[in-house]
Amino acid sequence: MNTGSPHHEAVRLIQAGGASATAARVQVLRLLLAAHTTASHQTLMQAAMDEARPLDKVTLYRVLDWLVAQGLAHSVTGQDRVRRFSAVPIQHGHAHFECDACGRLFCLADHLGAQPRTPPGFEARQLDVTVHGRCADCTHAGA
Ligand SMILES: [Zn+2]
Ligand SMILES: [Zn+2]
Repeated sequence: MNTGSPHHEAVRLIQAGGASATAARVQVLRLLLAAHTTASHQTLMQAAMDEARPLDKVTLYRVLDWLVAQGLAHSVTGQDRVRRFSAVPIQHGHAHFECDACGRLFCLADHLGAQPRTPPGFEARQLDVTVHGRCADCTHAGA
């Protein structure tokens, strides 16, 4: 296992925050790091099953919440109201792209500009921007 492996990276990220790298935390973060798009609970359950290390549903939810709380992952909700998770190392203010054909959600690397101004007394917590359209796969499929 080389030092650049997703497994190693997952252990390093978890331990960097002073937390213990439990098997479940490492597995879920590794699956997120390896994913090309954002992943739903369903996708992660299936991915864990595919590598013959099935995850308990409650454990998965708990680990995902923990990763989000630690800032190691973030979640985004699609039009279908399904929460999806990403370990893309972008902290705040990035947009997402939702493909209206296949429903996949992607993190966009570019940071958004300044936050829109809020009225006095309002406290902005998060800027949530989703671009809609069709992803490269769906565009090429000509659907
Ligand atoms: Zn698509
Ligand atoms: Zn994102």
